[in-house]
Amino acid sequence: MLTVGVAMLQGARHEHMYSLGKAAENLGLKITIRELRKSTDVEGVDAIVLPGGESTAMKIASRSEKLYSEIWNKVRNHSMPVLGTCAGAILLSQQRLIETEIERNAFGRQKDSFQSKIRVNIGEGNEFQGVFIRAPRFLKGSNCPVAWLDEEVVGVLEGKVMALTFHPELTEDYRFHEWLLTEAKETK
Ligand code: GLN
Repeated sequence: MLTVGVAMLQGARHEHMYSLGKAAENLGLKITIRELRKSTDVEGVDAIVLPGGESTAMKIASRSEKLYSEIWNKVRNHSMPVLGTCAGAILLSQQRLIETEIERNAFGRQKDSFQSKIRVNIGEGNEFQGVFIRAPRFLKGSNCPVAWLDEEVVGVLEGKVMALTFHPELTEDYRFHEWLLTEAKETK
């Protein structure tokens, strides 16, 4: 049984929980999803999802909770797999848990949000529906790309840390969530 924690302070959380359930079903794995709201909730989780939302609001919400500092400790010490999407990817980069640098809102404002076919290097098949919502952009590319919008890197995998500037949880394609569960199983 794997325990997957979803950071619940702010953002698109329930979509990730649904996708995790589907991914577990596809892989025939038993998982428990734990809602992470305070630092003590992090104890014993095997993988973590950092949803998209508003990274500034997440930081403000976490100041009193100390949730994120506990998550960062765990990621640094136990090399636990993490999937960060959009604002989650921003936090991972700002914490230097990935080397790739990121710029917030780099495609423009809400009205500049868009969907596009992207290319991925994960699971079966190479095509993926990229949903970009006030998305950040990786600066200067990356040595560890896993997703591309045309030639631009939009997803990186550094060690066990996956950071995506798009939202796989808003599609019915569960490959990234399946990656997280598979990685968690191997790490456990
Ligand atoms: N623009 C948001 C931020 O900078 C991220 C958007 C998202 O997660 N969909 O935090």
